[in-house]
Amino acid sequence: MKEILYKSTRSEGGYLKASEAILKGLADDGGLFVPTEIPELDVSVEALSKMTYQQVAYEVMKLYFTDFTEEELKNCIAQAYDEKFDTPEIAPLAEVDGAYYLELFHGKTIAFKDMALSILPHLLTTSAKKNNVKNEIVILTATSGDTGKAAMAGFADVKGTRIIVFYPHGGVSPIQEKQMVTQKGDNTYVVAIEGNFDQAQSGVKKIFGNKKLAEELAEKGFQFSSANSINIGRLIPQVAYYVYAYAKLYAEGKLAQNQKMNVVVPTGNFGNILAAYYAKNMGLPVDKLICASNENKVLFDFFQTGEYDKNREFILTTSPSMDILISSNLERLIYRIAGDNAEKNHELMTRLATDGKYAVTDEMKDRLSDFYGNYATEEETAQMIRETYEKTGYVMDTHTAVAACAYKKYTDETGDDTVTVIASTASPFKFTRSVMNAIDPKYDKLSDFELVDELSKIGNIKVPNAIEEIRNAEIRHNNLVRVDEMEAIVKKFLSI
Ligand SMILES: *Cc1c(COP(=O)(O)O)cnc(C)c1O
Repeated sequence: MKEILYKSTRSEGGYLKASEAILKGLADDGGLFVPTEIPELDVSVEALSKMTYQQVAYEVMKLYFTDFTEEELKNCIAQAYDEKFDTPEIAPLAEVDGAYYLELFHGKTIAFKDMALSILPHLLTTSAKKNNVKNEIVILTATSGDTGKAAMAGFADVKGTRIIVFYPHGGVSPIQEKQMVTQKGDNTYVVAIEGNFDQAQSGVKKIFGNKKLAEELAEKGFQFSSANSINIGRLIPQVAYYVYAYAKLYAEGKLAQNQKMNVVVPTGNFGNILAAYYAKNMGLPVDKLICASNENKVLFDFFQTGEYDKNREFILTTSPSMDILISSNLERLIYRIAGDNAEKNHELMTRLATDGKYAVTDEMKDRLSDFYGNYATEEETAQMIRETYEKTGYVMDTHTAVAACAYKKYTDETGDDTVTVIASTASPFKFTRSVMNAIDPKYDKLSDFELVDELSKIGNIKVPNAIEEIRNAEIRHNNLVRVDEMEAIVKKFLSI
């Protein structure tokens, strides 16, 4: 098999093996790691169509993580995609109103980040072993709600790791807070801070940048790492479910050999849709990549005009995981449409950092023709949830509804009737209040758990374990600190 190495999007040289890139997370120059080339799928769709999710995941990941042995990779996959998921298919497809919803929310925290965060800890600890890293890995994250919980669920009780999550006190939903403070696992630590998400984030960055602390840590056998969405160990596992979805539709006779499918992705940080783009570049018959945004429609404007401009009002929506003005993974696409030109990409990213905007050249814009962007207003999102429920009985979450709206606008505009997969990124039980309010405002007077039971009733869906578990779970974490005490509490947890 051809060896794939990783390099930064911002400079030439410095090639790393996959395991080294996973351990490092971010390149020293601030760029993201990209594979030196995108490998081609080397198994037929016919063969893939007879495989389980785990087997397909192996066929994809072995092409990228070429310094992992077959046994190492298969172990990581087996430990990630097991009974933690509440469906044996891991990522089932639901046919609703002429489209296929790829349900990526059957993991521990009922959102799609589980797809990557359930395998990252195993890729990370395997990478550490391969590179003779003896230190225990300490993951530090600041979260506005979802990522922190999904990361903890992934790292809980994984040997050789600890995870410390900071969240803004009063800045996450009551259900999100309850999910976090009830987290099990002897290696998990949760801390509320007196401040907002940005302060939590800067606090974590400051701890990461503290060289003296890093030395003290190393003496005691620890090193910091992060689990954020730009790690190549999070991106590549996401390629697998697009290949799996295609193979599944082929197996069911919904797609013929080489027939193309479109993919719609509700987008925030651009990781999920980038994975679909990688799948296409590997030779999977994907036609359009439909990028759906909520009212924070930076990406829609970018695909329209070729200018990326984050200088605008930040809007809080009912699809909070897409409330993002800087889509960090977009950098990997920019690098590619620049013709793998690190210098050009660096120039644009510097402009983003200084002016908050940049424009791509006409030649680069022409290379975006695989993509189509659109967006949904809050009103349209709610209407989509309500109408789909009334027409079909299927209840979708707010993020998925944004994608369904963008898809509708796309078909209205183009008449394109290509078979379409819509990435469904969260269970409706994760955003119960917004979902139930969209169906009927009368539900707003119910409490959070009353809403859960009502949703279960009207949608005829079993309440997911992730929700049942927190109903009566014991509070295990009770820490509240000031921003200037963050470092001290990290030291306390690690007894240094
Ligand atoms: C993170 C997230 C998204 C956005 O995914 P990106 O890879 O950041 O584009 C969409 N929906 C949900 C529910 C999410 O948690």
